[in-house]
Amino acid sequence: MAKERILKGIAVSKGIGQGVVFIYETKDVEVAQTPAPVQYPDKEVARFLEAIARTEGELNNIKERINAETGADFAQFLDAQILMLRDRDIISAVSEAIEQEKTNAEFIYHRILSMYAKKLEASKDQYLRERVMDIWDVGTRVLRSLAGLTHSSVVDVPPGSVLVAHDISPSEAALINPANVLGIAIEVGGRTSHTAITARALEIPAIVGVENMLAKIRNGEQAIIDGNRGIIIRSPTPGRVQFYQSEIKKEVEFQKVLSPYCELPAKTRDGRQIDISANIEFFIEYAHAKRYGAMGIGLFRTEFLYLTRRGNPSEEEQFRVYNELAKKMKPDPVIIRTYDLGGDKIFSDYREANPFLGWRAIRVCMDDLDFFRTQLRAILRASVNRNIRIMYPMISTYEEIKKATAYFHAIKKELHGEGVDVDDDIQIGIMVETPSAAIMSEQLAAHVDFFSIGSNDLTQYVLAVDRGNERVSHLFDHFHPAVLRLIKQVIGAGHMAHIWVGLCGELAADPLAIPLLIGLGVDELSMSPVAIPKAKMVLRALTVPECERIAERALAFRSAGEVKKFLRRMITKEFPAIGGIIGGAP
Ligand code: PEP
Ligand code: MG
Repeated sequence: MAKERILKGIAVSKGIGQGVVFIYETKDVEVAQTPAPVQYPDKEVARFLEAIARTEGELNNIKERINAETGADFAQFLDAQILMLRDRDIISAVSEAIEQEKTNAEFIYHRILSMYAKKLEASKDQYLRERVMDIWDVGTRVLRSLAGLTHSSVVDVPPGSVLVAHDISPSEAALINPANVLGIAIEVGGRTSHTAITARALEIPAIVGVENMLAKIRNGEQAIIDGNRGIIIRSPTPGRVQFYQSEIKKEVEFQKVLSPYCELPAKTRDGRQIDISANIEFFIEYAHAKRYGAMGIGLFRTEFLYLTRRGNPSEEEQFRVYNELAKKMKPDPVIIRTYDLGGDKIFSDYREANPFLGWRAIRVCMDDLDFFRTQLRAILRASVNRNIRIMYPMISTYEEIKKATAYFHAIKKELHGEGVDVDDDIQIGIMVETPSAAIMSEQLAAHVDFFSIGSNDLTQYVLAVDRGNERVSHLFDHFHPAVLRLIKQVIGAGHMAHIWVGLCGELAADPLAIPLLIGLGVDELSMSPVAIPKAKMVLRALTVPECERIAERALAFRSAGEVKKFLRRMITKEFPAIGGIIGGAP
């Protein structure tokens, strides 16, 4: 039996998951011609047809799940793939060639697909050229199926698995089935990488940044992922398993302690009301938001609509999602953030040396107004519910606000002209997540209805630390006084201009940060739904004057380490009821 081994990473999504290791590798399947001719070509044809049927079953399963999660028919790209899979011309060309050449199905299928792909690549029609990717998506599935390798995507992970990978892209992460995946461990990434955010959204215990893990772990062995301590234990000893069983029991007990907080008002002990809302990536999470007691959606990361499909979602598709979400959350507000694509959420073949400093979010929308228009129209049409707010990401200049707002008004006028009912009082806000926006917040506040501080990006840009790079993740710390001083400045600037200021980065859910943020005067905290009960528990133990005193002193320190040490000491002293839970919260 393999020896137990503990590997260290970074804890990004709380909880403990034990299961069978499933190593997710995206290696290409190798296709070769068998040296001897196949003896029974008809059996080879049958084997090929079975692989086609199996693949169709797989695609149908994925489609159902994506549609259920996104709340709309977002899996249409899979319909296109199924049609390609069933293409009669390809199937008969392959079957005939197998019969005639007495050669293995993989080799013939690959050859014929390559021919088709070449033809499409040469096409003048962009749509047809883009279908080459679909051809290879489908083709690789069939080839893997022929090779007896069933798992070609994260969607195929069997129940009871612990998912282990070098990396999972945000679009692949969006396809993970939480019913099957009990834990996730990846070699790269940091706490606020988007894969980590997805793991939290799906409530799957996860760790990232486990260097060189794949060389030390084997497919099929048992493993425990401890998302609290940031470790993965492969082949755990019986004693270790027992220890974790009792930890899981304790967690269940703690959840019972927390669950009454879902229902309780988000008020400090001395009566200050703070809006606690939910960050969501998928439509279906509205249900988690409600279950955990969110007072609205503080951040809908709409780019995930894009990442779970191929091609741009149409106005109608987007409208259906926003409209449904607004209806489900009514009368609570829903803040729809316009696309934040780019950075690590790559959506095209366009590659950049520094994607986080490049063509991302509002910059993409400003350069492609038609793309922006589709989304604005969809949001405005859904605003008929009167609870939608709109938010622009990655604002770094005043001109962006000016241009985006002017364009927004033009679209509104256009809809008025079409006789469409829209909310004329819709609030427009910006994410303050670049140093320039934070430093200029006093000037920007006059032009928007609210600020939402994106502490993930703000920390990344202020400290010059890539939020997804495990090599420098020890330098990524939201408690750095440079970040905290900017947060203070932004809240102050917002309040001077009489607008509300929220915070929707991961810092909002950290029990150690909440007293500090309350002390700085934040009006709203938006976080993963699952973090809400604990945040309410913390909030309800606090008193504003003490928080203000703590915040003032915290900002005088020289380093994140000093700030955290001070906060731990002060919170334990001033608010003993929450002293036990301030270790930090992924
Ligand atoms: C942030 O940057 O803090 C934020 C909330 O946005 P995202 O994590 O989606 O970039
Ligand atoms: Mg951001």
